[in-house]
Amino acid sequence: MTTDNFAAAASTAYRSALEVIESVEPRVAAATRSELADQRASLKLIASENYASPAVLLAMSSFLSDKYAEGTVGHRFYAGCRNVDTVESLAAEHARELFGSPYAYVQPHSGIDANLVAFWAILATRVEAPALAQAGANGVNDLSEDDWERLRARFGQQRMLGMALDAGGHLTHGFRPNISGKMFHQRSYGTDPESGLLDYDLVAAAAREFQPLILIAGYSAYPRRVNFAKMREIADEVGATFMVDMAHFAGLVAGKVFSGDEDPVPHAHVVTTTTHKSLRGPRGGLVLATEEYADAVDKGCPMVLGGPLSHVMAAKAVALAEARRPEFQTYAAEVAANAQTLAEGLVKRDATIVTGGTDNHLVLLDVTGFGLTGRQAETALLDAGIVTNRNSVPLDPNGAWYTSGIRLGSPALTSRGFGHDEFDRVAELVVEVLSHTTADTTKSGSPSKVRCTTAEGVADRVRASAAELLDANPLYPGLALA
Ligand code: PLP
Repeated sequence: MTTDNFAAAASTAYRSALEVIESVEPRVAAATRSELADQRASLKLIASENYASPAVLLAMSSFLSDKYAEGTVGHRFYAGCRNVDTVESLAAEHARELFGSPYAYVQPHSGIDANLVAFWAILATRVEAPALAQAGANGVNDLSEDDWERLRARFGQQRMLGMALDAGGHLTHGFRPNISGKMFHQRSYGTDPESGLLDYDLVAAAAREFQPLILIAGYSAYPRRVNFAKMREIADEVGATFMVDMAHFAGLVAGKVFSGDEDPVPHAHVVTTTTHKSLRGPRGGLVLATEEYADAVDKGCPMVLGGPLSHVMAAKAVALAEARRPEFQTYAAEVAANAQTLAEGLVKRDATIVTGGTDNHLVLLDVTGFGLTGRQAETALLDAGIVTNRNSVPLDPNGAWYTSGIRLGSPALTSRGFGHDEFDRVAELVVEVLSHTTADTTKSGSPSKVRCTTAEGVADRVRASAAELLDANPLYPGLALA
């Protein structure tokens, strides 16, 4: 199929689907149409979002959704799962081949679920299995009440070392508001206060002192590459399981932008990811593991997960097949190059960015130089048609709610066809908005952390310039829903 007639076929499929939905609940059809219009009309710089292909989106709208399939391929708790077995096997095979991993588990419904599966698989392998062996038991049901209580107490004593939240780490890496922080004693490693870069000596020192069961690497707001070989050495030295959450940068691993020491797969015991960010698939997660952890990960359902979303596994198979094509490597290289252009475009216009640059898909802009909080910058940019999200910067004086930063990512606009010139123009538009925005004054006379005002006409002017860029790089060209 050529791209043009593929788009025409997708267009027909979507139009028909929306007509069917409209006949039952027109407001859902209207919201779906409106979402496409909104996404078409804004500069999407949210680093964790992307645009999946029509094939991926259509694969999710299928009869596979109606099937229960708890268990794993060939070992289901339900009858009649042969088609689910097919799509799950295909998704797992594509994942193994794409990432060069001996084992892939494609059932997690999201990144959080993938991490939970990984945590329990590590606990099962490192804590439960030795306890069962010591008690001469085949499974937890064989344990006496006393042994069971001892095992439960041991689960609660385990430690995790992960990246600090304000250095770019993720809530699911042992932080208290997330269940991982309630499961594990957690300590975090930060970044060098001067350079903003990961300091491996500090990570090693923290690991030696804390002796974690799990050393976790991975981030959602760190704009640099990580040397996973070095992290594995640290994990080995203290006997920790090395886990990498590559949710954000899986597309750069798949597209071979990250290779050697920067590819987590050969170095980690367990790797988790989402499938919907830079990987450009459906919303969901997956886990890759070495043979040692594979059996435990395979028990993710029913240990942590309910019945798999079979239609989403089908869409994962489609997305992973796409990511195995040579074009995806070109895409991933462009994502990294475009993030660099964005970073350089901001710096040359006197903006401050954390670490002074980027070598992945995201840029962390410190907006304190504009006299704004992240919350204000996010609002002002949104009013001008630029969608971003506020984010803490290292040692953030404004905390995690108001923040002092804005996170900007290149994956979505690169999918739309934006290149060097467009990203430089995007940097210009971002600076234009922020440099014409001022914090309002509260009743007590201090600067507000929430309210702000952008000089008259700026938002309209920026929105018009953004529209020119967007019109020249249409989203889902040929897809007409009206
Ligand atoms: N891990 C990392 C590093 C993330 O950035 C995210 C999402 O932001 C997640 C996990 C959770 O993913 P999900 O929202 O699919 O649960």
